[in-house]
Order: sequence, then C-alpha cells, then structure tokens
Amino acid sequence: MKLKLSAKLLFSTFLVTLFLSQQINAQIFLSTNFKNAYDKQTRSLYGTPGVKYWQNFSDYKIEVEVVPEKKTIIGNAEIVYHNLSPDSLNMIVMKLYQNLYKKGVLRNFSLSEEDIDSGINIIEISLNKEVCTADSDNQFSLQGTNLILYPKSKIAPSSNCTINVSWEFTLPSRSRVRMGVYDSTSFFVAYWYPQIAVYDDINGWELLPFTGEQEFYNDFNNYEVNIKVPNNIGVWATGEIQNIEELLKPAFLNRYKNAKVSDSVVNIIKAEDYLENNPFNEFDNFNTWKFKATSVTDFAFATSSHYLWDACIYKSKNNELKSVFISAVYNKNSKDFYEVAKISKEAIEFFESKSPAYPFPYPNMTIYNGDGGMEFPMMVNDGTTGSRAATVGLTSHEIAHSYFPFMMGTNEKLYAWMDESWAVMLPFELQELNGGNQLANNVAAYNDFAGNESEVPPIVPSFQLRGRSYRMAAYTRPALSYFFLKDMIGDSLFYSALHQYMNDWKGKHPTPYDFFFSMNTKIGEDLSWYWKPWFFEYGVPDLAIKSVTKSENKIKISINKIGNIPVPISLTVYTKADTLLFNENASVWKSKSEHNFEFDIKEEIIRIELGNPKIPDVDKSNNIYMFK
Ligand SMILES: [Zn+2]
Repeated sequence: MKLKLSAKLLFSTFLVTLFLSQQINAQIFLSTNFKNAYDKQTRSLYGTPGVKYWQNFSDYKIEVEVVPEKKTIIGNAEIVYHNLSPDSLNMIVMKLYQNLYKKGVLRNFSLSEEDIDSGINIIEISLNKEVCTADSDNQFSLQGTNLILYPKSKIAPSSNCTINVSWEFTLPSRSRVRMGVYDSTSFFVAYWYPQIAVYDDINGWELLPFTGEQEFYNDFNNYEVNIKVPNNIGVWATGEIQNIEELLKPAFLNRYKNAKVSDSVVNIIKAEDYLENNPFNEFDNFNTWKFKATSVTDFAFATSSHYLWDACIYKSKNNELKSVFISAVYNKNSKDFYEVAKISKEAIEFFESKSPAYPFPYPNMTIYNGDGGMEFPMMVNDGTTGSRAATVGLTSHEIAHSYFPFMMGTNEKLYAWMDESWAVMLPFELQELNGGNQLANNVAAYNDFAGNESEVPPIVPSFQLRGRSYRMAAYTRPALSYFFLKDMIGDSLFYSALHQYMNDWKGKHPTPYDFFFSMNTKIGEDLSWYWKPWFFEYGVPDLAIKSVTKSENKIKISINKIGNIPVPISLTVYTKADTLLFNENASVWKSKSEHNFEFDIKEEIIRIELGNPKIPDVDKSNNIYMFK
C-alpha cells in the first residue's frame, strides 16, 4: 500500500514537473519582465499568485464639494499609502487624470476646444504632514497626467506614508471622455481625484500617461468620500451610502426603504415628484452625501437635481445573505431607461446563474444616464439607446465589467482584452435571448478586419493601439477565442477553469500569463498551440475545401487549414433530398492542418459548403464545392 502510494506520488510529481517545464518552455513567448516575476516567485507557473506575491493599496478619505453653477470640483484628501512590496520606494507616482484637458498635454482623444484649460489645480500637497514644493526636501514634479513625489527618505517595505492633497478643476462641459456634464446639474464625475498609481512586481511604477483611449489600472483601495452639494441635488456613487436618513425627505425615504427589500422595481423619485417637491432634505443650503467602499479599484459619483430614480433588490440565489441594490438614475426623456433597473436585475441574475456563474462582487449597482457606455466599480455611465436589444446589450456589457476588471484588477492600459473581451463574451447568451446577434456580429467584424496590417495580436500592449486596432484586439478577437475554446472543452470545464482563475486572482493583479497558465493548469493541458495563434500571432482564420473524392458510395472531403487561427469546422452537404451537417471543434487543428470527413452516401450530392456565419473565415471563395 505504502509502496503503491509512493510510486503514485512519484509519478504525479513527475507529471507536475513535466507540466511546469512545458509551461516555461511553452511556445508562447514569455517577455523578460515577466520572467523576472517567476524567478522572484511573485507569480507561479501554475498560474496562481506566487508564494512571494504582494500588492500595495491606499486608504482614501476625501471631502469634495460640487459647485454646479461653475461646474467645479473642489477636493481635499488624506491618503494613506501602504507599501507591502519588498522595495524601498524613492518616489510615489500619482495620476492627475484631469490634466487630459490641460493645454499642451499628450492626448489621443479629440476634445472640444472650449474644454481645454489649465487642467487640475493642485492647491497644496504634503507628505507625512510636510508640504511638498518643487524645491523643498519633499519634492514633486508634474509630468503631464502624472505627479511624481520624491520623498526626502525612502518609503520602506511594510511601512506607509500619508499624503494630504487639495485640488480643484472644472468639469469638461462638451467633451465626453467617459464622464462630464449632461445638463446644468447632471454630472458624471470620474477621473476626479489625485490617485496613487500602481506599483507592481512586473514593471514597478505604472508611468503611462492618461491619453484618453485606455482605461484603468488601479489598486484595491478603501474609500470614505463625503460629497457636498446644494440641497436640491441628489448624489449616487460607488460604495454604500452612510447617511440616507439625513438626505431624503420622509416620503422618499420610505420608498427607498421599500426598494431595499423589493424584488420588483420601486420608483423612488418620479418625474411628477419634482414638480411639487424637492425630494432631498432642506435643513441646510447644502447636503453632504457620505459613502464608504472597501477594496475597490476606483470611486466615481454622479449628480442631478431632476433625474428619476428607480431601484430594486436582487436576492442572490446562491447565498441568502447576499443581495444587490440596483438603481437606475435617468433623464425622464430617456425612454429606454424606464426598464433599465429591471434589465440590470436580469443581467446580474444571469451572471450569477449562467455566465460566469459566479457570485456578483458588489452590494450595489447604479446605472446612471449620461453618455456612451462606461463602467466604474458599482457605477455605470450609459447613454440612451434606440432599441431594447441595444439597451440590454449596453447595460449587460457594462455591468459585466464588475468581474473584469474590477473584481480581477487587470491592467487595462497594457491588456485591455483581459476585461473587454470578457464583457463581450459573458453576457452573450442573455443578449441573444433579447434580440441581439452577438456571435454573428463579432464574427462579421473579425472577418472584415482580420489580416489587415493594423490588425495586431491582442498581446500587443493596449496603450500602443487606437481605433479599430484597439477594438479588434481588446474586444472581438479574444472574445471569439473564448467562444471556440468553450466549444472545444465544453461548458463545464470552461467555466470551472474560469472559476479557478477568478478564485485565485480576485482582488489581485493577474497578467495574461497568469490567465494562460491558470487555464492550462485547470484544463490539464498546455494550450499554447491555441493561445499562440489567437493572442500572439498576426494572421487570419481561413479554412478551405481542399479536395473531394467520391468512389461508389464513399466520399472523402479534405479540409485544409490555410490560415493560422484555429476555428471550428462546420460542413454542410446538400443532396437532392437531404441536407447533412458535420461539425468539429477547433481541437482538430491541435497538431495538423488537414482534416478529412469520410462517410458512405448513396444519394447524389449537389453541393458541399464549408463554414457558417458564426465561424470566422476571411476567404469564402474556397468554401464551396459543386458537383457537376
Ligand atoms: Zn467594456
């Protein structure tokens, strides 16, 4: 018995070693900055955080005032930054996102001329209570959207430092880079506070400028934010409201409390309420809305003096102690928004039960009616759409981001595909059930652009990409790769592998290699043959009917993989009386580039057709075989 066990143990150790050596020798190229992380054991080749994994975080306490007439934001923050890295830090990098609007700053997003101003005004900044100036002991330097502090003594490992900063800026009135002004009091306020950049084990400080195109890379921070507004204005934000009893008049407070326990949507503030009443308390000229959020990657808020507010609760089916308070906050003219609270509830239910079939990470979710479509932790800024299918598509996409990148903390500046493609893929079935045509649309978009010199492999750092190249690499191509991987290994293994990755990395900073290695480990196979063409190579999906040979009642159809991207095969054989369908998943291309279908057939064949609208293939001219 004992011997047997040891032999078994030896054999499994051998397998694990073999597997790991396969990972490190995998055909996918491991960049040198990543290799260092494996050498230092901050990450493991199993695709899990390494024994020496670490990450830093901050505690933000912010007082902020919104002045609607001037559209200004005046803030004051105390930030405690915790250095859990093994390194002594000789600088601290902060992000001043609002400098995107500063004259002369690098940007790749077109802005309205009248929004170009002096950017964010840092009134005062101090480190450990000592004021920093350009020439004091604690120096700071402004470099576009980065502010860099140089402390007089290094920030030691396992220590923290305190930064106090006060600032102000004017909200952009015309430009819509995921935030802004929608009318005299309806503002979506994001990218609004000096934020400590991520210092990580791969690249150290994240120093990329904010140019408008790319989105986030943030630590998991704790926030206490007090937002002061005139008493006729409501505030919705990331986190949990701490003082709602002080803010809503009794009738509205009652509706709010009803909504907090109601499965069906409650109209907390209706259009007619504003005609006769201010829903918010008027004990003072101003109200301060207090919010708290723990372990979130950002904090956004939104205001309005006349938006409608619908809300309901989604009770988790998996855990009776958990629920999500869902709000839709919108302009009365946005016809689609009257249904958004209900649509959001259905989306969260879908995410918990079907795809990714994983607990929703937040207790709150607010969909605010601003412009475009943009996600923040517990907050979404969505424009009005023209159809119900589009509203379901937009709402579910933005809410899906709660998992990626907010629960998973991925770096969108370098690997936007690590969240966008999941936000495409996860709600796909829900969107199709609601009149969307997701898979075929993505396939058509890929067919149209695949192989163009500007169509780059998703592994190319996102900050180098723009427009259609960015869209294809971040959204479409990787999302399709997940569809065909799921088709190949089955729903059950696909989702259990995804869950393993999510369990191992939630609240952390996974990289592409952590994802690939994690999936390999759980699936039990080195999938480099699949990851490499889809994520690392230029190329196209292109299958062709190579040859058809028929003798007596036997037929042999040879399919050739001409393009490097592995996709499933769908073959339709039309006879005089019948239509025969043959399917193979993409695994047939694991080690060969030709696949044969051989079968008996008595009837006369008219035509053989390869492919369908749900499989990308850039050259259809080699997909049809006619019998003369
Ligand atoms: Zn997105």
